[in-house]
Amino acid sequence: MVVQAYWSEQAACRDTHAEDLFADSATQKRAKAVCTACPVRIDCLTEALDSRVEFGVWGGMTERERRALLRRRPHITSWRPVIERPQSADREAARPSTPSA
Ligand code: SF4
Repeated sequence: MVVQAYWSEQAACRDTHAEDLFADSATQKRAKAVCTACPVRIDCLTEALDSRVEFGVWGGMTERERRALLRRRPHITSWRPVIERPQSADREAARPSTPSA
C-alpha cells in the first residue's frame, strides 16, 4: 500500500519563513512568487478556500484576494472541482495573479 504524503510536505514554501506568508501586502506579493511553481498549489488553495482561512498567502492568493473571491462566489463550499474544471469562470477567478515587481 502506498501512503500518500500530505501535500504540505511537497510545498515550495516549506523552507520559507512563515512571516513572509503572513506579512504586509508588499511582502505577500513577493511570497506569492513562490506559489507560481508550487506543485501543490491547488491543494493549498483548495484548503484555504474550503476552510475560509483568513490570514496569509495560500495557493498564490493573499487573504484579501481570497475574501473577494469568496464574496463573489458565496455558494461554493467545495473549491477543488471548481479550480480543476477547465474554462470555468470560477476557476479563472481563483487563478492567482502574477506578482508585480
Ligand atoms: S501554494 Fe504557495 S503557500 Fe501554498 S504550499 Fe505552495 S508555496 Fe506554500
